[in-house]
Amino acid sequence: MAQTQQDVLKASKEQCIFCKIISGDISAAKIYEDDKVFAFLDINPVNAGHTLVVPKDHYIVLPQLPDDLAMHLIKVVKYLSGAIFEMTGAHGINIYQNNGAAAGQEVPHVHFHIIPRRQDDNAMSPWNRSKIDPEQLKQIAEEMGKNLKPISSSTVKLSSNTSVSKKTSKPKRKGKPVKVKRRNSTNSP
Ligand SMILES: [Zn+2]
Repeated sequence: MAQTQQDVLKASKEQCIFCKIISGDISAAKIYEDDKVFAFLDINPVNAGHTLVVPKDHYIVLPQLPDDLAMHLIKVVKYLSGAIFEMTGAHGINIYQNNGAAAGQEVPHVHFHIIPRRQDDNAMSPWNRSKIDPEQLKQIAEEMGKNLKPISSSTVKLSSNTSVSKKTSKPKRKGKPVKVKRRNSTNSP
């Protein structure tokens, strides 16, 4: 029998460490809670004050969230990032949100990282960015634009390529992926 999206969600919820933190089965350094959102300190902080903000309901990746929950979650991220700026005296803040193991997601429950930064703290590696031909950039934008549905009808179906397990075999591609040729790779932002 084919696994439905609900089956996938249910199975991942049973194993989910963040759901156990939210229910109180595992203790955490909580800094904020309301009826929909929970925030606590990361146990392996990049810098002191590194905070995780999660919805109380279990969803794996951001595009799965109902719009009203997504809006509330972002509102809390905004509020806490301002508070963390003030409390830590940070010079800057990174807000990270990883979806899928390929993007660095380690816990299969949607979460935002709020990471206070100091000037020159070298706490995170710079992105490995590439150069691209302006014509190619235009083509990619056109291709992507053609495939966008109206925002009001946006729903997401997770493809088998999206996984938070690092043990999965190489994903099979369906359809035509948008390709970006890397060249002249550089570390400069
Ligand atoms: Zn969960």
